[in-house]
Amino acid sequence: ATQIVLASRPKGTPTKDNFRFENIALPALKEGEVLLEPVYASVDPYMRGRMSDAKSYVPPFQVNAPMEGGAVAKVLESKSELLRAGDMVLGALPWATKSIASAEKLQKIDASLAPSSYYLGILGMPGLTAYFGLLDIGKPKAGETVVVSGAAGAVGLVVGQLAKIQGCRVVGLAGSEEKVALLKAEFGYDEVINYKTTKDLDTALKAACPSGVDVYFDNVGGEITDAVIRNINFHARIVLCGQIALYNETAPSSGPRFLPMILTRSALIQGFIVSNYSERFPEGIQQLVKWVKEGKLHYQETILEGFDRLPEAFLGLFSGENKGKMLVKI
Ligand code: NDP
Repeated sequence: ATQIVLASRPKGTPTKDNFRFENIALPALKEGEVLLEPVYASVDPYMRGRMSDAKSYVPPFQVNAPMEGGAVAKVLESKSELLRAGDMVLGALPWATKSIASAEKLQKIDASLAPSSYYLGILGMPGLTAYFGLLDIGKPKAGETVVVSGAAGAVGLVVGQLAKIQGCRVVGLAGSEEKVALLKAEFGYDEVINYKTTKDLDTALKAACPSGVDVYFDNVGGEITDAVIRNINFHARIVLCGQIALYNETAPSSGPRFLPMILTRSALIQGFIVSNYSERFPEGIQQLVKWVKEGKLHYQETILEGFDRLPEAFLGLFSGENKGKMLVKI
């Protein structure tokens, strides 16, 4: 098999040089284990954090050890009663063309319910992040204005549609004209601001949110967040989901300080990690599956073909190459 290891820890924005391809021989299967062939591998922004050695909620990747991430895989051989050859599973797997895993750590998926790749997106970690972050922390009410940064990404696409289902006005921020058009035409966004071409985000937000901002779902941080917070209403809720604009910084940046706005608007700002909600995942999945089946939730994926393209797909998250969930078909 071939695997991709972390060759070195990135300083600033990661590059292809931070990865290395290696050939490996897999050991024989032990009792309770299965041999897997990945079908779809997910690349996610949180992996940037794991490439550094800073302590976080998931342990760092080790240099010279394989990268790892969410994947949908097919069971080729099984030495476990839990799984059979041909089963499709979801798990945290090494970036490798074949791998061995303990069957207990894998989740069997029902590929007849939805395309198997959806378990890495709308019916998986990103979809659940949108669901619990928006509904549990954002608590949007009908008629309110919800702003979403990173609106055209895996999480953002779902957040906007969930806010629409709740009867809100939905305003997004995204990084290209193509994404702006897509969000308006296919995903129900009322207004979308191209943050790369808009010089004055504050004025653009005031125009897009004439009644102010009640809920801000933040995937991005940095200057976008500074501008949104200048426009929040009394009792606004800020859902701190991600800060991708800051993940590649080499030193903490200082910017406009918005805490006085939080104070004077009596606003709530709350961070969260989706795994906080793991006990409620079945509820979230059930609701998301229902809305997907009813056609109330649409989804989009950007799928690169070929195992070799995993590093490229990952790096593309930071330059906005993806519309919806970024995946690699192995
Ligand atoms: P996305 O699919 O949204 O991919 C990342 C997107 O971020 C890119 O497409 C790009 O779009 C945008 N982006 C990249 N760099 C910048 C920048 N400097 N400024 C503004 N936008 C940028 O990823 P996900 O949907 O998987 O994740 C979205 C966010 O949610 C991330 O911050 C992630 O870390 C976080 N997250 C948090 C979880 C939690 O439990 N709290 C769980 C899952 C995700 P564009 O073209 O618009 O720039």
